[in-house]
Amino acid sequence: MDTNRDCGCASAFGRIEALVDGHLRTTETVDVIDHCASCESCAQELDIVSTLTERVKTACFEAPPAGMCDEILNSLKSNP
Ligand SMILES: [Zn+2]
Repeated sequence: MDTNRDCGCASAFGRIEALVDGHLRTTETVDVIDHCASCESCAQELDIVSTLTERVKTACFEAPPAGMCDEILNSLKSNP
């Protein structure tokens, strides 16, 4: 058995979001990916989180609130 490098569910699960956001160091990323390769529930969580993150990014990119830029610019001008 070659499971000595497995970081375990609790450890992997807690870092999945950070991994998807790109906040993990390379060694940590490898730990979580390795765990997900042998653990179905964590692999599913990784899949869900990455899908959701991708959808949120896409939605934000496609549908910026109307007038948002003007509002930000105006608030900056009125608060020097
Ligand atoms: Zn797991």
